Amino acid sequence: MSKLRPARLRCAVCTATSEQLIAESESSFEPPDFDTRPGKPSRSSIIYWVQSCPDCGYCAHDISVAGEGTGEYVRHPLYQAFRGNRNFPPKATEFLCYAMILENSGLFSDAGWTALHAAWVCDDAKNADMAANCRRRAIDLWKEAKRNGQAIMDNDFEEFALVCDIHRRCQEWEEARTAANEGLECDNRPPIVEALFRRELALIDRRDAGLHNMAELRAARPA
Ligand SMILES: [Zn+2]
Repeated sequence: MSKLRPARLRCAVCTATSEQLIAESESSFEPPDFDTRPGKPSRSSIIYWVQSCPDCGYCAHDISVAGEGTGEYVRHPLYQAFRGNRNFPPKATEFLCYAMILENSGLFSDAGWTALHAAWVCDDAKNADMAANCRRRAIDLWKEAKRNGQAIMDNDFEEFALVCDIHRRCQEWEEARTAANEGLECDNRPPIVEALFRRELALIDRRDAGLHNMAELRAARPA
């Protein structure tokens, strides 16, 4: 478990103050999942990556800061209606609210990552349907990011690896296979990424939509 620091913050949208918990940054000892979710101990701190103002419902990484037009968007009935959505675990709803704000600001890549974080909260709540819903939302936002020239990761092969894993987790086998094959055609892909695509293709073949992490690749690597 990460160290938590309480902080009294003033909401940049409605000026209400509230107590928020901030996780001190901590490196992970365990390897990440195929979709980049960090291993322990920082794995459990993701719920502190988003804050929510209890008064107006503004959700952000830091609610004491807000971009231009954010206040108007937060007060919009559509945002307020989604804020009351009970289909997702409450923390997942906060991440999705934050994703809506980022999307409204044209930050589609960041919005996609935030939707993926919502999926991880749903995974922890064992809510597979809503986790898949959040992953599809992440994919849609990243498609919009690419249309707007925004990068999702540092390299094409990393993006294909991420998208492949997300489709696999949603049981979208053909989309996952296509992403893996496209990734295998990327130039300059390092051996670990090549091994990741081979592993993904094996998982796709046996219709495995479960969680897998990078330790599997290390174990499979020849000495
Ligand atoms: Zn507020």
